[in-house]
Amino acid sequence: MTGKPRSVGVAQPAPAADTFSLYDAEEAVLTRAEAMLSGLSEVAGGVQALADAYRRGYREQRRLVRLSDRMQLDLQKANQRLAEQQRDLQALNAALSGEIEHRTRLEAELRRLADTDDLTHALARRHFMEVAAREWVRGGGAICVMMLDLDRFKLLNDGFGHAVGDTALVTFVATCRANLRGLDLIGRTGGEEFAVILPETDLETGLAVAERLRVAVALTPVPAPDAAVSMSVSIGLAQGLPGESLESAMQRADAALYAAKRSGRNRVAATADIPPPEPERP
Ligand code: GH3
Ligand code: MG
Ligand code: MG
Repeated sequence: MTGKPRSVGVAQPAPAADTFSLYDAEEAVLTRAEAMLSGLSEVAGGVQALADAYRRGYREQRRLVRLSDRMQLDLQKANQRLAEQQRDLQALNAALSGEIEHRTRLEAELRRLADTDDLTHALARRHFMEVAAREWVRGGGAICVMMLDLDRFKLLNDGFGHAVGDTALVTFVATCRANLRGLDLIGRTGGEEFAVILPETDLETGLAVAERLRVAVALTPVPAPDAAVSMSVSIGLAQGLPGESLESAMQRADAALYAAKRSGRNRVAATADIPPPEPERP
């Protein structure tokens, strides 16, 4: 190490020649100490910068944490709102499906009322014609139609009153049902007029069913306040011809009914009993 010796503190006498090396050593130590100090201050500066950076980072981190807390709160609120809205929607949905169910029941009830005769609970005419027309073409086998008309019903009404007449109509349909199968259809086609479809039935069987009905009606008393009231029915029967429409078969059965009325009432007549139409005169 070269260079001039430095004076530290108070002035000192010039060193003797043999003390040069000592000065050199001191100088070297001092120089190293200085270097160390300057290194340390660099380190201190670095530490300071690090601390500053750390504080900045920490502040940033806290800001981000606060931000994320607020976002979490907002999210919680939004979730609550969504849950409330979902509950509202569920309640609305439940109310709506209740309303739809109610309407469906009401519609079914209205349809049932429109399709059924109020008094006798036989099928109403329009509905009977729809169901009967479907049944007419469904099976493809033998099928019969009966037209029924209560005898001298006006007299019954006049003699015992309209209410007894109503009871007679109800009793008549109940008697028919008791003597028919579940698959047979009975419809009220007019005031005291009814039609019955007998699926899977040929003319011979149809005649037996009609006769059983006629007898049952004649034997069943009509409940009345202070009178024993009886009634009778006339029946016209037709078996469907191949490819024949329901309306056409009903007309033939009606003609048979007319024949039954003409021949004294309380009778069954089939289309076969009707005399063929007279040939037209030239
Ligand atoms: P016929 O043997 O020729 O059929 O004679 P009828 O008296 O039965 O025939 P008519 O057509 O002269 O009279 C039918 C009567 O049926 C007249 C009508 O007041 C009565 N009638 C129709 N609908 C009802 C009803 O719902 N209730 C009551 N009580 N009577 C009814
Ligand atoms: Mg009539
Ligand atoms: Mg009548």
